[in-house]
Amino acid sequence: MSSAACIFCKIIKGDIPSFKLFESDKVFAFLDIQPLSRGHALVIPKYHGAKLTDIPDNDLLEILPVAKKIALASGASDFNILQNNGRIAHQVVDHVHFHMIPKPNEQEGLGIQWPAK
Ligand code: C5P
Repeated sequence: MSSAACIFCKIIKGDIPSFKLFESDKVFAFLDIQPLSRGHALVIPKYHGAKLTDIPDNDLLEILPVAKKIALASGASDFNILQNNGRIAHQVVDHVHFHMIPKPNEQEGLGIQWPAK
């Protein structure tokens, strides 16, 4: 299920370009265009739904392993995984997305290895 008006559905289809990190039949991941840190990625279900509560469990189950893979590929030992639902919770794009935000350590830097394998 996808929505013709949804910007992230257009990214999944390739109608809007993105720096793709990972794709499977249920999950897509790409770099955020306004990164909070180097390597800031978004991991999204291909199934279109605005909030976590709209997404079938089977689709959700595949998200966190991808977020983990991308966190590992970023090389960051410290990172945030964030997921916002609704305007009061600062959600701007109405297609469920998990942010993976590396928190670079000044000594280690980031050994980013894209794409995530
Ligand atoms: O969680 P929230 O909805 O606030 O975050 C949306 C995120 O989607 C932002 O970090 C924004 O930079 C990102 N974005 C993007 N590519 C777009 C539109 C939004 O990476 N074309």
